[in-house]
Amino acid sequence: MSQTMATQAPKPLPVVSDRHVDPHSYPDGIAFLDGQYLPMSQAKISVLDWGFLHSDATYDTVHVWNGRFFRLDLHLDRFFGGLDKLRMTIPFDSQGVAEVLHNCVALSGHRAAYVEMLCTRGASPTFSRDPRQAINRFMAFAVPFGSVANAEQLRRGLRVAISDKVRIPPASIDPAIKNYHWLDLVRGLYDAYDRGADTALILDFNGNVAEGPGFNVFCVKHGKLSTPAVGVLPGITRRTVFDLCAEEGLVAAPANVGVAALREADEVFITSTAGGIMPVTEIDGAAVAGGTVGPITSRLMALYWQKHDDPEWSSPVSYPDRPADDQ
Ligand code: PLP
Repeated sequence: MSQTMATQAPKPLPVVSDRHVDPHSYPDGIAFLDGQYLPMSQAKISVLDWGFLHSDATYDTVHVWNGRFFRLDLHLDRFFGGLDKLRMTIPFDSQGVAEVLHNCVALSGHRAAYVEMLCTRGASPTFSRDPRQAINRFMAFAVPFGSVANAEQLRRGLRVAISDKVRIPPASIDPAIKNYHWLDLVRGLYDAYDRGADTALILDFNGNVAEGPGFNVFCVKHGKLSTPAVGVLPGITRRTVFDLCAEEGLVAAPANVGVAALREADEVFITSTAGGIMPVTEIDGAAVAGGTVGPITSRLMALYWQKHDDPEWSSPVSYPDRPADDQ
């Protein structure tokens, strides 16, 4: 220690606040936390929560479009599957979670909403390192709908870069447990931005195409569709593409999708709850399908949005000012 440092008077310690004043702002919405419905700006978790400290959490995202949930049952099934595999328990069954989500949306008033249900391992009162001592925490929220692709990107198609980052292998983390292990995906995104692309695709352990930050990918060759079979989240929008293809008499199957096959595809699109079916027209600076949105992609996009008003695929939210019509 230098002499000057040693002779300096100690700096007074900062004052400990008794209330946190949050300098950030948040999208308009309603959250459910610890049995209470709150504005988004007040939904906070402890920094000691394992969900935050260890990414020990699972979640699911469903959307509301035109005041209707789209395929909520499938999202609930996937969420409860993840809870089970992670040995987490919440004080609700599937119907109870559906009711909480419904209330978040109805209270928010959003007719187009991004709705998330999540459970963290929680925190233990003693900061124990034993996950069994943590108290699991269920939360939910509804905020305005957001999309991976903006309106301009949906019209012209996304420009995608293939990153050299490798997706966490399924032997490490079962990708069917929807999770926040996104460092590979986020690093891929920065690679993509550095290369002038809109978003990224990352590869699996065998060098095949896996998925991107928040989406699955499909390619079309000679009228047949394929999408990576392993090492990816079994997306509900991906499943919806299979269902739409079955209705349309199109062949669609999970398969290994190599990088070359993707580059040489007739059409490429990505799928996500956040945006639906979204065209890709450029990969690593080279045009896919002549750089225009292909006919099968366009047809599936139109059908996808049509299904949002179909009671077989969607269920209405009952808003306080406008009760649902087909409940
Ligand atoms: N892959 C990953 C890693 C995701 O996080 C998501 C959605 O968030 C998807 C794929 C697409 O899944 P879904 O269609 O269910 O939104």
